[in-house]
Amino acid sequence: MEVRFIVDTNVGKLAKWLRIMGYDTLFINGIDDNRLIGIALEEGRVVLTRDTHIMRRRVAVKGRLKAILIKDDKVKEQLIQVVGTLNLDSRIRAFSRCIECNQPLVAKEREGIQELVPPYVFQTQNQFMQCPTCRRIYWRGTHWSRMNLALEKLGRK
Ligand SMILES: [Zn+2]
Repeated sequence: MEVRFIVDTNVGKLAKWLRIMGYDTLFINGIDDNRLIGIALEEGRVVLTRDTHIMRRRVAVKGRLKAILIKDDKVKEQLIQVVGTLNLDSRIRAFSRCIECNQPLVAKEREGIQELVPPYVFQTQNQFMQCPTCRRIYWRGTHWSRMNLALEKLGRK
């Protein structure tokens, strides 16, 4: 089964990168521990946190709650830890999910998209994806290439 995550407030930046990698990652700003654990158990999500109190909870110690205690405070090191611990593929599903909403993106026809993206982008790109929730359009621009390179490096570790 595909790994899904819930990210604690203290490691919020991880959510963006796990979503870029295409992993279903929930992040609720300011969530308290009980609710975080509740959602994780209910939806079968792995908790990512720097909070040792969560790790010492009975559900975590007994293994019913899957949780990873994040060691570093740099997001790159955090991501390396998560990818390494769960042996994730950092690129196979990359760029399939909205960075903001965590929704799977939907392929979009070129027609009807012209007004939604800058003219240069419309002229030079062929593939467009859209988030069904926030309607944000994604394409394989320079930002995409940069992030792709970052993921590639991560995968080679
Ligand atoms: Zn969105």
